[in-house]
Amino acid sequence: TKSVTLKNVTKTFHDDNNNLVHAVSDVNLTIEQGEFATLLGPSGCGKTTTLRMVAGFEEVTQGDIYFGSENVNKISPNKRDCTMVFQSYALFPHLSVFDNVAYGLKIKKLPKDVIEEKVDKIFSIMNLTDHKTRMPSQLSGGQQQRVALARALVMEPGVLLFDEPLSNLDAKLRLLMRDEIRRLQKRLGITAIYVTHDQSEAMSMSDKVIVMNNGKIEQVGSPQEIYQRPTSRFVADFIGTANFIQGKVLGRKENELEIQTADTILRAAAYGDFFEGQSVLIVVRPEAVRLKDEGEGSLKGKVTKSVFMGQTQEYEVDYNGVPLQVTVHNPMGEKIYEVDETVSLHFPKESLHIIKG
Ligand code: ADP
Ligand code: MG
Repeated sequence: TKSVTLKNVTKTFHDDNNNLVHAVSDVNLTIEQGEFATLLGPSGCGKTTTLRMVAGFEEVTQGDIYFGSENVNKISPNKRDCTMVFQSYALFPHLSVFDNVAYGLKIKKLPKDVIEEKVDKIFSIMNLTDHKTRMPSQLSGGQQQRVALARALVMEPGVLLFDEPLSNLDAKLRLLMRDEIRRLQKRLGITAIYVTHDQSEAMSMSDKVIVMNNGKIEQVGSPQEIYQRPTSRFVADFIGTANFIQGKVLGRKENELEIQTADTILRAAAYGDFFEGQSVLIVVRPEAVRLKDEGEGSLKGKVTKSVFMGQTQEYEVDYNGVPLQVTVHNPMGEKIYEVDETVSLHFPKESLHIIKG
């Protein structure tokens, strides 16, 4: 298993009108040995291009890619110590499940008994043994994707690459496969780079999330860091749901900033540099807002939406003309506010986060 490092990696293409497209711009990134790292971002932000450069399917326009300490820029894809799992499973239709999985090992000219041993081991780890004589057409989509995963894992690559591998599966199977991929990756200790535009997939699977926007890295961090301490409005918006309250920095008290908003002063721990008088946005997650009866606090809002969702009650509350999304867990026993009710709003300071705005 290997670490992967990208140093100042840039990729440009020419579009149909011969205009230069910056698909990836000056990306710097290290993925540690055995880490599960996910490239997350909207369609067209450069995730696939980044992954294909790591795999060697695309040459870098500028910069360097390292596997461990080795520069792999000039190494062809089949000689790089990595394999890729695609969204389309790309199984060979005329080969049995066993032969599909054994294919890469045969190309490597391993002895027959070694091949059988390795394939059988992967089949047993993945509970695929019963399917090994079947043809791909006799398998469901989910089973085919698991065979595709087995085919990648059997190569025991130093680095495993995934490009939106679960997009073609139904919702329930996607959840199961997330767990399975994560379990296998940890068990085998393989370094994994995973590409998705689905933030819940990224959050639930990754050690490290790399948020990309427009060919550039916006933020790198653990799922918790990305969710709780986004460094930009883009990240706060892209990961989950975010409310933004505008304010100005009044001053600093120890490690906390005092922020003047339209109708109050809020305090929050400060990460990063802020100066007095600076315009900022306070990021408040829907589940961080507390609702109480009118009068039980100085900040007022008016309920404009109140939807029972089972596990949660989802509100929209008009706060000084800004719609706030509020999620209250476990409505059982919890008071439910109706549309047009006036409520008091509370923003616990430990759940506030400040970004430049
Ligand atoms: P993502 O995987 O995040 O959706 P891509 O890496 O596929 O994004 O694409 C990033 C940008 O590069 C897009 O604007 C896309 O149109 C452009 N692009 C990707 N591949 C090529 C190519 N072979 N030729 C021209 N432009 C490309
Ligand atoms: Mg893509």
